[in-house]
Amino acid sequence: MKHVHIMGVPFLYTDLRAFIELLDKQIQQQEKAFVITANPEIVMKAQEDSSFMDIIQKATYITADGIGIVKAAQLLNTPLPGRVTGYDTMVELLKLSNDKQYKIFLLGAQPETLEKAKVNIERDYPHVHITGTQDGYFDWEKNDISDRIMALEPDLIFVALGVPRQEKWISENLHRFNKGVFIGVGGSFDVIAG
Ligand code: UDP
Repeated sequence: MKHVHIMGVPFLYTDLRAFIELLDKQIQQQEKAFVITANPEIVMKAQEDSSFMDIIQKATYITADGIGIVKAAQLLNTPLPGRVTGYDTMVELLKLSNDKQYKIFLLGAQPETLEKAKVNIERDYPHVHITGTQDGYFDWEKNDISDRIMALEPDLIFVALGVPRQEKWISENLHRFNKGVFIGVGGSFDVIAG
């Protein structure tokens, strides 16, 4: 696969449509994937924090979240096909899950936000199977959320804990799973909750 490197971050050379097709294949083949939709803040944070750069390097796919990354790629004479933002990717994955009846898990956000997001997803994408949800403010020490998610066998796990917590959680827990596309979606649950 072709990549465009910006300040040490390998961006996948893709547009949104091709990216969704790629993730769909991974889901069908029951493979694991760790997705980061990286904006300029993420790229800058990786420069300042080497442990965050290490986490980023563990991602299966990194996409250009925002016009800033697309412009930077242009300036470096290695253009990218376009933006692939976290929110847009989540919306397209919800449409895909609605068509294919994929199972999803929602992790993160405030309890009320999460509940509203769940209700709105169920309204707009009635064939999506939400296997479970967990807000982002529970006692992480006392509850092993990975165990619970694993037992539910979701195809897609949307992680809305903000940067860098969501990437950190995915990178620390991915090895325990046999399948699932994991994607950090930042404030997307808040947007979907309205
Ligand atoms: N969040 C969470 N647990 C935390 C911190 C944040 O669930 O300990 C949630 C927060 O409620 C919000 C989401 O993470 O729904 C994204 O937060 P923010 O907008 O700060 O992240 P960004 O998109 O800027 O990375």
